[in-house]
Amino acid sequence: MPRNGMKNKRALFLDRDGVICEAMPRGQYLTRLEEFKLLPGIIGLIDEAKNKGYFVIVITNQPQISRGMVSEAEVISINDKMNELLGMKLDAIYYCPHRNEDNCDCRKPKPGMFLKAAKDFDIDFSGSFFLGDSDKDVKPGKAIGCKTIFLKNEHNGEELKNCSPDFVIESLKEAEKII
Ligand SMILES: [Mg+2]
Ligand SMILES: [Zn+2]
Repeated sequence: MPRNGMKNKRALFLDRDGVICEAMPRGQYLTRLEEFKLLPGIIGLIDEAKNKGYFVIVITNQPQISRGMVSEAEVISINDKMNELLGMKLDAIYYCPHRNEDNCDCRKPKPGMFLKAAKDFDIDFSGSFFLGDSDKDVKPGKAIGCKTIFLKNEHNGEELKNCSPDFVIESLKEAEKII
């Protein structure tokens, strides 16, 4: 229920790799700024979300930190650059630096980063969306009660079979009509 007559706060949660920037082939990880290429339509989608009053919040697994392939400082610097490229419109960026074997509470499909964001921004999940390109995105999105959007690409057909998103899209432009 809305409190004090205030509107519920909604978020468009975005995965990073494969949603904001081009996906690396499976098993490879983006570790350098030169590899970071914005996907077509992402700026338009973020503008649309901001116009509609959503918080825009990135939720990303970055296990290459724990693997020692990239430093945490480098990931933060790539994330800062990403926000600049997007016109500084991101409200927050949450990343998990761990691997599966670290057994943390934040690595997707665990919901830790969403719960942290909900606490920080007082977000109502039922009015929120999570847009990702993996079953690891759809599963926590559904578990917390967000609507989930799966962005299909040439790499992730098998992952789509492992989950049941509310919406499946082939371009970011399509997401503008859903949110
Ligand atoms: Mg991804
Ligand atoms: Zn973690």
